Amino acid sequence: MGRSPLQVHQFPCLSDNYGYLVHDPVSGETAVIDTPDVAPILKALDETGWQLTYILNTHHHFDHAGGNQKIKEKTGCKVIGPKNEAAKIPGLDRAVGDGDTVALGSQRAMVFDVPGHTAGHIAYWFEEAGIAFVGDTLFALGCGRIFEGTPEQMWSSLQKLMTMPDDTIVYCAHEYTQSNAAFALSVEPQNEALVSRSRQIDELRAAGKPTVPSTMALEKATNPFLRPTSKDLQANINKLGAPIVEVFAETRRLKDNF
Ligand code: ZN
Ligand code: FE
Repeated sequence: MGRSPLQVHQFPCLSDNYGYLVHDPVSGETAVIDTPDVAPILKALDETGWQLTYILNTHHHFDHAGGNQKIKEKTGCKVIGPKNEAAKIPGLDRAVGDGDTVALGSQRAMVFDVPGHTAGHIAYWFEEAGIAFVGDTLFALGCGRIFEGTPEQMWSSLQKLMTMPDDTIVYCAHEYTQSNAAFALSVEPQNEALVSRSRQIDELRAAGKPTVPSTMALEKATNPFLRPTSKDLQANINKLGAPIVEVFAETRRLKDNF
């Protein structure tokens, strides 16, 4: 993971969120992805010596935008966030949506609208750096709960993320991977890549280490929410040959009740 022209500093926030500082060493510009909590972000800025230029919000939930006002006050940064839920983003300076780009010094992020978890959720893809921040849309071995959208919308959002190259490093907002793995194994126990990933996850968690980030290749190979075309998965949930979106919806429904 050393090829990126951007530096990412990852740190835990709240009970299971991750905070991320993203730094362009060429310009010195720095962004924080979401504001789950104030103190850990200020501490991370202090430790890195980086000066905050932007907050990049993925969606309006409190564990993602709750620290906006205080962080903005303390650092004087600008807030960039989702156009389609702009009224719910505290301190918003610039609203962005599908196809917009956000510059961080010499680097650019493309914005994807990825509705489903919330109606206006967005993701940021730094194409040249090969990294993406996907908030609560795609998790390691999981996907966000569908609070403000439909399974059709969520599946279409995940398909957008699947257009990113396989070696894209995917940073999600929560450490949910171990419980996601238990569910994933229940719907696709025949998947050997999943079985071995699940073992690695157990080892990482036993050692107190994060399982995030992952890569698109790994998610495509093991994440049941990206695998509704898997015949094994379809058969295991009694949806063999069903329309793909129906397979996805049933997988999400089963996870909600797991
Ligand atoms: Zn959320
Ligand atoms: Fe969240």
